[in-house]
Amino acid sequence: MDTERSQTLFDRACQVVPGGVNSPVRAFGAVGGVPRFMVSGQGPYLTDADGNRYVDLVCSWGPMILGHTHPQVLDALQEAARRGTSFGTATPGEVELAEEIVARVAPVERVRLVSSGTEATMSAVRLARGFTGRSKVVKFAGCYHGHVDALLASAGSGLVTFGLPDTPGVTGASAADTIVLPYNAPEAVSEAFARYGAEIACVITEACPANMGVVPPAPGFNAALRGFCTEHGALLIIDEVLTGFRVSASGWYGLDPVDADLMTFGKVMGGGLPAAAFGGKAEVMRLLAPEGPVYQAGTLSGNPLAVAAGLATLRACGPEVYARLDQVAETVGRLASEALAAEGVPHQLQRAGNLFSIFFGPDAVTDFAGARRQNTAVYSAFFHTMLDQGVYLPPSAYEAWFLSAAHDDEAVERIAQALPVAAKAAAAVAVQ
Ligand SMILES: *Cc1c(COP(=O)(O)O)cnc(C)c1O
Repeated sequence: MDTERSQTLFDRACQVVPGGVNSPVRAFGAVGGVPRFMVSGQGPYLTDADGNRYVDLVCSWGPMILGHTHPQVLDALQEAARRGTSFGTATPGEVELAEEIVARVAPVERVRLVSSGTEATMSAVRLARGFTGRSKVVKFAGCYHGHVDALLASAGSGLVTFGLPDTPGVTGASAADTIVLPYNAPEAVSEAFARYGAEIACVITEACPANMGVVPPAPGFNAALRGFCTEHGALLIIDEVLTGFRVSASGWYGLDPVDADLMTFGKVMGGGLPAAAFGGKAEVMRLLAPEGPVYQAGTLSGNPLAVAAGLATLRACGPEVYARLDQVAETVGRLASEALAAEGVPHQLQRAGNLFSIFFGPDAVTDFAGARRQNTAVYSAFFHTMLDQGVYLPPSAYEAWFLSAAHDDEAVERIAQALPVAAKAAAAVAVQ
């Protein structure tokens, strides 16, 4: 496979952009090799600068639920662009998108639009602190909520630990109000509330974690979080940036209806443009400026193009889209697992609704410590052999595989043909 142009672009990029990319995982650091510079997308396919075509199993990390360059989304974008790209005023589309979200997700009575998932979770945490007058935030190891300072904290060694900064640049003070707990461990949540209950503003959790690979909540875990929060006067923030409008028309809430005080959205709701949101109970959302005292704002919040793409995407996501996505996710997950099993590669296929990922290790994964026990060298071999055959997997073992309703039988067949070869390459590393 020719990668000369991607290599040249990457070399140029490294001269002007840190690490050559605008988001770290794109640099292929975890798997090695030349990051591919994509120039176009069509349905389930991506084409890179050298003209190589790939079946896309990243789908922009979730937003492209309808596939690339979907005609309805393109039409909506073109029409919106002709009317003007940004006004810095209220616009009718924002009302429609807010109505669409409120209609789909019962706990959301009011919603504020922002431009990224990071902004959504950052604002939700600020609002929870403003509402409760408390400072501590509980989060779970392995759950990702964007690059919010207070949420870039790692767990220490105990069951209940205060956060240590995950990265230089986050101060001890930002992380010190964050309590990091192991995922799927209600006893740790109970202990944290027993010790610090009166200081805890909120618990934030991914509706279903999918940023350490897919690690479903144990049955009743999200409901248990609701119980602890209610008992201690803390708010529950359920982060549906990844799951929202992807796993069902109403997101993870449609599969596991736990009443959050605040919820966050992004990815699918922007249809491939920068749009995200946070919303929840009117009683809480009322505290936001200009209605209340908690400040939050954005020059491009509710941008007309982003809103048009998001609305067109949500409106095109009928039952047939979710049925196709569920089916194709079932098929691709099963085919991958069968190919790996045939070569004796230890692995775990983990599913949660239409989300799935594969851990290259022998045991089922229920938390971040388990996720980290996988053998990432096996994944790298598997990844590159798929890539060489024109299948673009996430360039990290810690990510979900994303499909779209545009993944037709031909795309699935190309994946199916690549899998046995990649499984052999994985086996060669796994047995070393
Ligand atoms: C992607 C993601 C975010 C961050 O969204 P950005 O738009 O990348 O800032 C937050 N939470 C979850 C669960 C995500 O998957």
